[in-house]
Amino acid sequence: MKACLIDSPAKIETNPLQFVDAPDPVAQGDQVLVHVAACGVCRTDLHVVEGELPPHKSPVIPGHQVVGRIEKVGPEARRFSVGDRVGIPWLHRTCGVCEYCRAGKENLCDAPTFTGYTVDGGYAEYTLAPEKFVYPIPEALTDEQAAPLLCAGIIGFRSLRLSGIEPGGKLGLYGFGAAAHLAIQVARHWKVSVYAMTRDARHQKLALEMGAVWAGGTVDQPPAKLDAAVVFAPAGEIVPAALKALKKGGTVALGGIYMSPIPSFEYNLLYQERVLRSVANNTRQDGEDFLRLAAQIPIHTEIEVFPLRDANRALNSLKNDAIRGAAVLQVG
Ligand SMILES: [Zn+2]
Ligand SMILES: [Zn+2]
Repeated sequence: MKACLIDSPAKIETNPLQFVDAPDPVAQGDQVLVHVAACGVCRTDLHVVEGELPPHKSPVIPGHQVVGRIEKVGPEARRFSVGDRVGIPWLHRTCGVCEYCRAGKENLCDAPTFTGYTVDGGYAEYTLAPEKFVYPIPEALTDEQAAPLLCAGIIGFRSLRLSGIEPGGKLGLYGFGAAAHLAIQVARHWKVSVYAMTRDARHQKLALEMGAVWAGGTVDQPPAKLDAAVVFAPAGEIVPAALKALKKGGTVALGGIYMSPIPSFEYNLLYQERVLRSVANNTRQDGEDFLRLAAQIPIHTEIEVFPLRDANRALNSLKNDAIRGAAVLQVG
């Protein structure tokens, strides 16, 4: 099969992903073999390629927002039939027995595997996943539109939940890439007013087009105090600015897997019961709840499509804030 893989992490400007012939994977045990149609491009892929996340498998095929059809099932796989359309997310498999898994917090599992990071992912014609960790994809969505829902969408949704935002509230979104452009649609469905803080003028424009009441620069103070904020941009200097914009008792949720160091700040910014918390992965329940809601709203995904062989170009564009909405690799 054709695949894009990374041998050793390097700056994306050096185009380190190699487009190669790789061996076809074989479904074993409870795995399904998926013929990939589309794979979303996530900022986490950039962190894997550039080495901000320490390598766990080398070489590795990135990509964890996979949509495709089941080609074969392993001998113990019963849930799906050949030809079914499914989505494969970041959380590849959990142990099922640690204290977190037993407590319904499988996103915090002690021994998880991650698609496109600790195991090969979807920048390829075929990929494998355990049948219990894939999602059926709602019929209404095309492959390319569905792909970004699998991480940008689900993580954005979990971030909104953990921010504690309530209907009618005021929400700040910091960074307006793939995750924020989906989260704003959920927020508006909940009758929430959204304020977008993002460095790129094109992203500010997109936020306003999508119904933000105000858009400004990354560390600009919005014109109203916020009930909650979600930070998607991986820049630590946003944290004090977001806390400063918050009402008493509000929460800042950090939606990324990686962030540059957070500068020190006065205790005063946190006092008055403001909360600062991270969001790590998601549970399967988050994914099921979000995909149901996405079909119901319905969510519209802004996408920019690249051929699989151009994964380096897609990631360079992502790094340069040049993507409107989400980048998607077309594979099938
Ligand atoms: Zn576990
Ligand atoms: Zn992701």
